[in-house]
Amino acid sequence: MSEPHIERPVDRSKLQVSDEVAIQIENMNKWYGQFHVLRDVNLTVNRGERIVIAGPSGSGKSTLIRCINRLEEHQSGKIIVDGTELTSDLKNIDKVRSEVGMVFQHFNLFPHLTILENCTLAPIWVRKVPKKEAEETAMHFLEKVKIPEQAHKYPGMLSGGQQQRVAIARSLCMRPRIMLFDEPTSALDPEMIKEVLDTMIELAEEGMTMLCVTHEMGFAQAVANRVIFMADGQIIEQNNPFDFFNNPQSERTKQFLSQIL
Ligand code: ADP
Ligand code: MG
Repeated sequence: MSEPHIERPVDRSKLQVSDEVAIQIENMNKWYGQFHVLRDVNLTVNRGERIVIAGPSGSGKSTLIRCINRLEEHQSGKIIVDGTELTSDLKNIDKVRSEVGMVFQHFNLFPHLTILENCTLAPIWVRKVPKKEAEETAMHFLEKVKIPEQAHKYPGMLSGGQQQRVAIARSLCMRPRIMLFDEPTSALDPEMIKEVLDTMIELAEEGMTMLCVTHEMGFAQAVANRVIFMADGQIIEQNNPFDFFNNPQSERTKQFLSQIL
């Protein structure tokens, strides 16, 4: 297996899954023009679940998680997040976006704003939080990701790993109930991957519902309660990490695992 980037022990007793449904996706299909990118996707995610989505490049992983906060629109089927169905209704889209945080491969911080300003921008302008309160919240989460001392610097002055931790803190400042991660460590140097994964493990232990597209199979084994394998826009199989890695069912999954492990 590729070098595991997890050293921190994971307290599995804290990893509880509730009966409450956080995300429900039913017979969902999406096309980009003529191209059928997501095919009959069905997925139920309970609150507290930590799901790793794996699969070859181009299989639709990013598109799937982007549909969950309506960065992309699906054309048929249902996506229900925290009881709110995603339709063209802007009120629903706003509600879902306020509950779902997203962290991308490229951190997408605003280069001309300080770390603190990056973290307070949306709470102040979208959530109408008073500036002082937004700054206190931002400092709280910057401490949580262990970089409060960087608050007054600009993104370009930070390492990739630090910038990604800022991106996570920035998301948390909006108090999401669900976090989506799209290859959050793929753009990082190996020595920085661990610090980002540690932050994600901590979030998991606090009960955050998480969907993570990642190739960090050590993270999947340590933290995920379910691994989903996608290919050609479909969920091919899903299982708990132990069985997923040790007893894959489909040929596609076996082939994929033989390439990455
Ligand atoms: P993954 O994240 O698994 O690599 P993506 O969801 O990014 O896959 O992409 C799935 C497929 O959809 C790929 O074939 C990709 O080229 C195509 N695709 C992605 N985004 C767009 C877009 N905006 N317009 C057209 N095709 C797209
Ligand atoms: Mg992708």
